[in-house]
Amino acid sequence: MMKLSDAAVLGSCTTEMAGHDWDNCFLGAAANAIGLPRISTTIIDGIHTVDVQARIDAILEYWPWLNEHEGRRLTDITSMYDSGRYTFEEMVEYVRSVEPPCACAVRDCCCDRSAYLFGQFPESDVEQANAMSRR
Ligand SMILES: [Zn+2]
Repeated sequence: MMKLSDAAVLGSCTTEMAGHDWDNCFLGAAANAIGLPRISTTIIDGIHTVDVQARIDAILEYWPWLNEHEGRRLTDITSMYDSGRYTFEEMVEYVRSVEPPCACAVRDCCCDRSAYLFGQFPESDVEQANAMSRR
């Protein structure tokens, strides 16, 4: 897993970086860095169908915190970038200020806690402690 801010920095060299385009915007760059498929276009009987939603869904699946506040995190980031008023660096700074601190992308996760516990105590003791706390 990679944080959105880190992925965007890494992916910024994979696109020409342009707003209003899910393949090349801020989130698009991040999606490229982690290898999400780009927008697919199918042509059936001369009719072009562009599946942008699949790309957005994949982004939301990887960074579920973008759904916070009824999806406003996602729209905030895209509209800030699309406005052209912020530099890429400012966008990275903004995202770092709102994203979960852990690379697992889950807010209030227990990665640190379990790493600490598993590092300190045998796994069986941790399981026992968890079982006791569930009672
Ligand atoms: Zn975590």
